Amino acid sequence: MNSSLATVAYIGATILFILSLGGLSNQETARRGNLYGMIGMSLAVLATIFGPQVTAEGIPMIVGSVLVGALIGLYAARKVQMTQMPELVALMHSMVGMAAALVGYATYVDPEASKNLEGAAHAIHAGEIYIGIFIGAVTFSGSVAAFGKLSGRIGGSPLLLPARHWLNLVGLIAVIYFGREFMNAHTVEEGMLPLFIMTAIALLFGIHMVMAIGGADMPVVVSMLNSYSGWAAAATGFMLSNDLLIVIGALVGSSGAILSYIMCNAMNRSFISVIAGGFGTTAAAPKPTGEAAEPQGEVSPILAVETAEMLREAKNVIIVPGYGMAVAQAQHTVFEITKTLRDKGVNVRFGIHPVAGRMPGHMNVLLAEAKVPYDIVFEMDELNDDFPDTDVAIVIGANDIVNPAAQDDPTSPIAGMPVLEVWKARNSIVMKRSMASGYAGVDNPLFYKDNNRMLFGDAKKMLDEVLMALKA
Ligand code: NDP
Repeated sequence: MNSSLATVAYIGATILFILSLGGLSNQETARRGNLYGMIGMSLAVLATIFGPQVTAEGIPMIVGSVLVGALIGLYAARKVQMTQMPELVALMHSMVGMAAALVGYATYVDPEASKNLEGAAHAIHAGEIYIGIFIGAVTFSGSVAAFGKLSGRIGGSPLLLPARHWLNLVGLIAVIYFGREFMNAHTVEEGMLPLFIMTAIALLFGIHMVMAIGGADMPVVVSMLNSYSGWAAAATGFMLSNDLLIVIGALVGSSGAILSYIMCNAMNRSFISVIAGGFGTTAAAPKPTGEAAEPQGEVSPILAVETAEMLREAKNVIIVPGYGMAVAQAQHTVFEITKTLRDKGVNVRFGIHPVAGRMPGHMNVLLAEAKVPYDIVFEMDELNDDFPDTDVAIVIGANDIVNPAAQDDPTSPIAGMPVLEVWKARNSIVMKRSMASGYAGVDNPLFYKDNNRMLFGDAKKMLDEVLMALKA
């Protein structure tokens, strides 16, 4: 393939990626968006393999690597549970970071890459390598730490080293200093030491940054690392002089940054304060996730049969799904119940909190998988005012996103986070297995409200019972 054909293929792939991102912004067009992405990626890979930058001898090696990668990806995609998706995404981000750092080192030691470069061109080349390795190393170690946190291998509470902002500042100054040393190096051997030191600092910085962010701020970390992985890919594109990688990296990087901004808005936090970390330190320290909270009053349990009775008699029902629905894989039963109630003339709607579950769009994906019609799925802002006119609000495995303490208790670690106001419904029913706290580790006063009932048990099992009773 000659270089003009490869360029045309790259432009085609870029357009497909832009269409893909556009499609993914809406549930109804998301499938099409995915398809565009897949076609774009196939085109990009083929144009690269058969393009002018790859020699005939290199093709078997690339095809072999693609096959190995594809097999690992296929295995992971088949094996991973829906609830493990956020961890998988974090791991994938770490791979992008590692690739960027390794490409940086490979480019630096490759004499061909810097041949004929002098003066400003040489400085730009060295700068690309240095910045590329820095972004790659931060993305890699930050994503590994996020993987640990999301999978529960590392505790959710923030790690707050004394003078942590100073530590970061000293790290940054050191990175700039060694950057100067690197740029002034005359030989590859001379440049290696500052490069190694900078990489070590970047790795520590990535871990430190993610470890300082805790509890309910984790959604921002996920989207932020998404953004970093895009910038890491763009940096790789600069090092390899691959325009497509630069464009795609910038697309991923900027869309991840926009997502981080949206997540921050959803949690009423400023981006800077999330990045600075320290969630939960000014207020009462949150309990570790899943630990039973101190009882603050009496709860009133309800049976599945009684729940079915209440639902049958209701005119307006709002369902609020959360992480527990994903754990229980209850979405199909939720759909069956919705269908049964709608057939009986009940107005059933879904209220989705932007940070419900463990990754952006988690609930939308599950509901789409269960074929819940899109027109009854609403964003939090679209239906928060409707709770007072709702007969039954049923919360399925959600906790933090329906916690009234976010509004009522300024000392709560989630104070200020907008929540779904289910307690304003005439009746609310919370489905969960115990009195354990949610991801942010805080108690939930909703459970003790007079108009709230608790349906204890695994969400799937209890909803099956509700469905049976509804159909009886
Ligand atoms: P929470 O983690 O607050 O609550 C989930 C609840 O589900 C738990 O209290 C748990 O209680 C219950 N549960 C777990 N398993 C089951 C089951 N099998 N059946 C029934 N219930 C079950 O989740 P929310 O969705 O309410 O809130 C999301 C939280 O996660 C927020 O704090 C958010 O900031 C954070 N987060 C979100 C990310 C995102 O991108 N969306 C990323 C990272 C964190 P019990 O154990 O008693 O059953």
